[in-house]
Amino acid sequence: MPRDGSVPPQRAESSGWDNPEGIIAIERPGWQAESACRFVEDPAIFYPSPGDTEALWAAKATCSNCPVLDKCLEYALGNNERYGIWGGKSTRERLLILRAKRMLEAGEA
Ligand code: SF4
Repeated sequence: MPRDGSVPPQRAESSGWDNPEGIIAIERPGWQAESACRFVEDPAIFYPSPGDTEALWAAKATCSNCPVLDKCLEYALGNNERYGIWGGKSTRERLLILRAKRMLEAGEA
C-alpha cells in the first residue's frame, strides 16, 4: 500500500485484505480487472526500493504485456499517483510526462 494511503494497482482479485470490515468503500477502476499485474506473486515489485533494479524491471516487464497499460498510465497521471510503477512508468518518468504535457499546453514546447 502506498504511503499516502491510496489504493495501489490491483495485483489480485480483492479478497478483502484491504477492507476486512467493509467499513471503507474502495472502488477500483474497472480496467484493473484486466490488468497483467493481478497475477503477479509479489506485488511489492511495483513499489521497488531505490536501487532495486531487479524489482523495477520485473514490474516494467509485466506492464509491457498488460492490455490496460494506457488506461493505467492515464489513471496514474490523472490522479497524481506519486508512488510505484503505473502504466510501465516510474514516478520520475510520470513526472517528466506531466511536465512535458504542461509545457505543450502552455505552448512552451
Ligand atoms: S500497466 Fe502495469 S501496473 Fe498498470 S495495470 Fe498493467 S501491469 Fe498493472
